Amino acid sequence: MNAFWSLSRRMLRYRAALLGALGMALVSAGSMGAGLVGLLPVLDKVLGKDRAGLPELATRLNESSWVAGRIPPQLIAALPEGPVTALVAMMLGLGVLTVIGATGNFLHVYLSLTLVNRTIAGIRREVFHRVVRMPLAAIIAAGGSSEPSTGSSAGGGGRDEGGPSTGVGGASDTVSRLINDCNGLGQGLNALLSKAVAQVTKGVAALGAAVYVDLRLTLAALIAGVVAGVIIRKLGKRIRRASRAALESQADLYGVATEALQGLRVVKVHGAERFEAGRFHRINKSVMHELNRVRTARALASPLIETLAVFTFGALAVVMGKAILDNHVDPSEFILTMASLGVAGGSLKPLTGILGDIQTSAAAADRLAELTKTRPEPGHDLKLPKLARHAQSIEFRGVTFHYPRSNRPSLSNVSLTIQHGETVAFVGPNGSGKTTLLALVPRLFDPDPNVGGQVLIDGRDVRLFSVRSLRRQIGVVTQETILFKGTIRGNIAYGAENATEERIIHAAQRARAHEFITQLTGGYDAAVGEQGLTLSGGQRQRLAIARAMLRDPAILILDEATSMIDADSEAKIAEALQEFSRGRTSLIVAHRLSTVISADRIVVMDQGRIVDVGRHGELMKRCTVYRSIAERQLLSPG
Ligand code: ADP
Repeated sequence: MNAFWSLSRRMLRYRAALLGALGMALVSAGSMGAGLVGLLPVLDKVLGKDRAGLPELATRLNESSWVAGRIPPQLIAALPEGPVTALVAMMLGLGVLTVIGATGNFLHVYLSLTLVNRTIAGIRREVFHRVVRMPLAAIIAAGGSSEPSTGSSAGGGGRDEGGPSTGVGGASDTVSRLINDCNGLGQGLNALLSKAVAQVTKGVAALGAAVYVDLRLTLAALIAGVVAGVIIRKLGKRIRRASRAALESQADLYGVATEALQGLRVVKVHGAERFEAGRFHRINKSVMHELNRVRTARALASPLIETLAVFTFGALAVVMGKAILDNHVDPSEFILTMASLGVAGGSLKPLTGILGDIQTSAAAADRLAELTKTRPEPGHDLKLPKLARHAQSIEFRGVTFHYPRSNRPSLSNVSLTIQHGETVAFVGPNGSGKTTLLALVPRLFDPDPNVGGQVLIDGRDVRLFSVRSLRRQIGVVTQETILFKGTIRGNIAYGAENATEERIIHAAQRARAHEFITQLTGGYDAAVGEQGLTLSGGQRQRLAIARAMLRDPAILILDEATSMIDADSEAKIAEALQEFSRGRTSLIVAHRLSTVISADRIVVMDQGRIVDVGRHGELMKRCTVYRSIAERQLLSPG
């Protein structure tokens, strides 16, 4: 609940709207209370107890201590006579009160919703801000699976730009928090501000009216209220605990479904529909189980309170009936007190549901608060020195790395030094750690703390420098080019928004992309979808190369496409990369024979270790791992 309150405190930032909303709730409730009290003389009239006309009523008012003779006698004399006229005038007065109350009510809800929407938009913005700055490892850890998703391990799909899969589980859990939990919190804040405040003020106003009319009756009812309150609190606690568990398993449900549908090709090809359906079924059942745990508490809340209320009212009716028969109590007062208490009960009753809503959203608030507390990626401290442009070497020194929640190291004690300007090809079976090793250079991950070794650029540990200055020097081209929604130009200039048109076109030309871009309708302004579905794999990779070239990096990290790319693209990509790698250090996860043959060195990896380093000819002779890869996995042109 603490997280809920601390997040709802953000509404204080919009003080004017908050005060307005609360003020309007008071106006709305006040006019309702006044209306209830105003019913007393009306009842007297209807029950025939008071036959006085307007002049007499005004005279009586004038004698009361409130008005104290402020109504001028001329006005009293001008008032029409007759009890019915008086009744009409009273009803008109109540009508005016009702309109004031309704206006107050409208403004209260209007202002509350404005406030809640703004607060939630602010929280959503901040959470997203945090999430994109979160270390990749934290997002993977949020997923709860120790292995990469079936989608990425079973055949090339699902790689994120610049490194190993973020794990669909982790990403979908984070997305679910961002969207669903913000909505949930919004509902809670709304329940708190517009519903709870309105109901409480109305309930209090009605209680005030009841106290004004008859104190004893009201006190008795209040005691019953306290008893009900205690019960509600108990139920609320239960609901909150179970709701959190249900929300969590719903995120799992989302994860499994997303994973299966994103990897649907793989699922189908492997005939794993039954397996996926089974997995979904198990989690679905546990969601139902969690929801059923709140069932009793939710179902019990309303009937319990209602029964309590009826018993209390019954007891009061007996006591008061006797008092009326003995002429101790006036019947209009009795009716009005009961009516006011009824209104108070009616206003306070929805509070159980509203409190339930708030409790439910407290679970969402807890999860959001966890996100806002995650520490951002290290290396963004402005005090850190800038890393000078790489000009000598890149060194992995005894590097060991575990993915979060994985007990097998993905890299163990890897040491390798690469000279500036060298082109090094990395080969090895799937899962041997090539992508992971290269992801350590731009610090998408860091070696295990303390014992995990170091990554050094020009002899300097990358962890001691600002991560921006490091990443600025690195161009990354992955197998699957992630194209963001927008234009071709925007995608090339991604992360370099200030790039001039001239530089963008120049980069596209060098990436051998200019020609196909100008043939598109719209040219550089052509829109690409979220997945850029209208472009071929080869074209997308050339866009990625242009994107990397625009940054003029000192280090190029390239994950070659495993799938066949049309021969024309293939040749152009090779040409572009050859030109691009001149004067830069290139690290390539190689899948093509032509690439390994032209590389300065080939590093062979297996099970997270380097097993050999050399040129193609030597390795073919002496390294069995390499030979089997070269024979089975490397794609030869044509
Ligand atoms: P390669 O690029 O050689 O195919 P990777 O670097 O992708 O290999 O993977 C190395 C090891 O790390 C594999 O055992 C793989 O299962 C594991 N791995 C990769 N990504 C993740 C992840 N997100 N979470 C947990 N383990 C992972």
